[in-house]
Amino acid sequence: MSGMDKTQLLGMTPDELTVYFKQMGQPAFRARQVFAWLHQGADFEQMSNLPKALRETLDENCVANPVSVLETIESKLDGTIKLLYRLLDGNVIEGVLMRYKYGNTVCVSTQVGCAMGCRFCASTQAGRVRDLEAGEICSEIYTAQKDIGERISHIVLMGIGEPLDNFDEVMKFLENITSPEGVNIGMRNISLSTCGLVPGIDKLAERKLQLTLSVSLHAPDNVTRSSMMPVNDAFPLEKLIPACRRYQKTTGRRISFEYSMVNGVNDSPQMAKKLADLIRGMGAHVNLIPINPVDGSPYSATDEANVRRFQKMLEDLGVNATIRRRLGTDISAACGQLRREDAKQAEQATRQTTSERTNAQ
Ligand code: SAH
Repeated sequence: MSGMDKTQLLGMTPDELTVYFKQMGQPAFRARQVFAWLHQGADFEQMSNLPKALRETLDENCVANPVSVLETIESKLDGTIKLLYRLLDGNVIEGVLMRYKYGNTVCVSTQVGCAMGCRFCASTQAGRVRDLEAGEICSEIYTAQKDIGERISHIVLMGIGEPLDNFDEVMKFLENITSPEGVNIGMRNISLSTCGLVPGIDKLAERKLQLTLSVSLHAPDNVTRSSMMPVNDAFPLEKLIPACRRYQKTTGRRISFEYSMVNGVNDSPQMAKKLADLIRGMGAHVNLIPINPVDGSPYSATDEANVRRFQKMLEDLGVNATIRRRLGTDISAACGQLRREDAKQAEQATRQTTSERTNAQ
């Protein structure tokens, strides 16, 4: 049986796994054991407290880790590692491992490509191919953990894809990754970033999760925001900002706004004033990020001195703002850049070189 025809266990919740094991004639405690192993990133042969025959049956019929590392690139500047992953159907996604004082953070993808069309973002240039399954998102983390041999304590859903456009699988992923029976990563150590899908924000609020919600705002007026993000036509600021307020009220958690600064587009003092007027009083936090210019995008980054001026203005206007440290700039660590490069190379490469690379894993 090829990997794609096998049953993927990593995406199943403990209860789903129990049902699956019951159907196999196995007791519930076996499902619990397998859940614990799977969420340590183990393969079936490593599951030493299972009978050999069961390990073999599982190996024949199921997949433990649906994601493998195709390539890793380490930044010489700051130790950030870009991971290019291959899925069982041959699709390629990417993740980034960032080392902070408080622990290792992995930035994970939630879709193959993205349908949102933000004009500055490499992930969306070729559209959305498919959603990732919960198990594939978990596997990104365990595969990274195995690759670096260090524990991952924090997760940001800020890689390729729009998490709220793949709501159910992302929720299942969160359930599994925070399960005390698995790796037990605290919900407070997880951030989810959205381009602003209002119905998704409302749905997420109902779950009352303790994660941090980041909203990619990037502009304080509809004309500018729509020019950067087509999603703003569907959910303009007069819908988005009240949804953010509702989210804070329902969950009791402050959200943070991402603001990628583009030279001459959203970085003037007038924009800082409009931004402050838009969100003042929410107690929300603004993360300023100089845009990472990607191929085929008309945007260039605001210079550092201007980012600092913009931050100071926001602070003076009563809005809390920080400048996000840019990690891995020497390794194309911005969303979707590496996958695009890989796709372009693959288009150019002959069949033979592609298969050599795949076999060399
Ligand atoms: N779809 C989600 C999460 C993925 S992108 C979202 O839109 O929030 C994570 C963050 O990186 C978003 O704020 C996104 O707008 C930003 N981003 C994407 N490409 C970028 C680039 N080239 N430079 C700076 N920020 C970028």
